[in-house]
Amino acid sequence: MNFMNSLEFAQQSDKADKLSVYRQRFLFPQHNGQDVVYFTGNSLGLQPKTTQSYIQQELEDWAKLGVEGHFLAKHPWMPYHEFLTDKMAKIVGALPEETVMMNQLTVNLHLLMVSFYRPTKQRYKILCEAKAFPSDQYALRSQIKFHGYSIEDALIEISPREGEYTIRHEDIYEAIEKNKDSLALVMIGGVNYFTGQVFDMKAITEAGHKAGAIVGFDLAHGAGNLKLALHDWGVDFAAWCSYKYLNSGPGSVAGAFVHQKHLKNTDLPMFAGWWGHDKKTRFLMDKTFVPMQTAERWQMSNAPIFAMAACRASLDIFDEVGMDALVERSKRLTAYLEFIVGEVNKQKNDCLEIITPKENRGCQISIVANGYGKPLYNKLIENGVIPDWREPNVIRCAPVPLYNSFEDIFRFGQILNSLL
Ligand SMILES: *Cc1c(COP(=O)(O)O)cnc(C)c1O
Repeated sequence: MNFMNSLEFAQQSDKADKLSVYRQRFLFPQHNGQDVVYFTGNSLGLQPKTTQSYIQQELEDWAKLGVEGHFLAKHPWMPYHEFLTDKMAKIVGALPEETVMMNQLTVNLHLLMVSFYRPTKQRYKILCEAKAFPSDQYALRSQIKFHGYSIEDALIEISPREGEYTIRHEDIYEAIEKNKDSLALVMIGGVNYFTGQVFDMKAITEAGHKAGAIVGFDLAHGAGNLKLALHDWGVDFAAWCSYKYLNSGPGSVAGAFVHQKHLKNTDLPMFAGWWGHDKKTRFLMDKTFVPMQTAERWQMSNAPIFAMAACRASLDIFDEVGMDALVERSKRLTAYLEFIVGEVNKQKNDCLEIITPKENRGCQISIVANGYGKPLYNKLIENGVIPDWREPNVIRCAPVPLYNSFEDIFRFGQILNSLL
């Protein structure tokens, strides 16, 4: 691609891309009367302008109908989660029956591990990436302890090699092979939140299965960012949040995936609640749990309607655009950001180092600014750029294809250049 570091080029590129109009559908925080350069959609996605009316509808139906809203609301609350299922399933490459929106991400990871981390004396180890997102580290460690195993023995963490930032796939496969007699679970973040490295989920799933292990992914940074094919890859289970790339609002409802091959197995151990009970007989209130044969079985409680309304507003936009078009635009924007960082580097003695791999990435560039630290990040904020700081030394920038523009990226380059 022939990029240029000019306002004219950036504006032309925006004009030429038909997805650029979606920017108008989002609300941007303001800085000196101008939209900020918002590069933190991988942490908290921006609010669609439609979200308010979706939530308002539920508030009004609640006011007008009280409990009868469960059946009589415009979008009845009883089956409300079902309104999200098809659209969510498309985004992650799953069948609708394999997909459910419920709870929060870490909660879902635990609930799924109740079913899919079943350690035995022989097979009890979990393999994950080193420096996984802290919540995942706590979840995995606490599961191991809960089952009475020692973390030192049972947790295999794959690190980057000395002097490298990203993890080599061959090191993952080698560790899987080495532990093939004792490995119970491979549980990796599909995209590393720190470096932005995307893992080959299809190949890791194959390698895990060959070793006789279950394979699950945390897709907090994958859902709505990458083209995923959870069903076709044969992934056993996955979970993700909806407030990052999926723009559903702070702490909004999370997603879960359980592969079709497990859905008929009603003997799987699990923590049950009434929302996982067969819908047809749920309200007979019988004491025997009759599990649904879809991912809905893992639901415990009735659905958080306001969070789901926000999620529905966002998924409607994703459905309109489609992941193929979105990923294509994402690649162009991310490549332009890489180019702009390179342009700044030329003028600033190569002080910026991009640690995100070129080949395995979504819409995130993680930058180490050698010789600068958190003060640089603070200065960016003061100048109307919102990137994200991760200890000890990384500035993460996510040019989100739904609402970021080439012009955002150009402006970022100008501001960054002026601060170094
Ligand atoms: C954002 C994120 C979380 C956050 O977990 P919550 O349960 O939603 O608070 C967990 N894991 C990963 C990999 C994340 O990126």
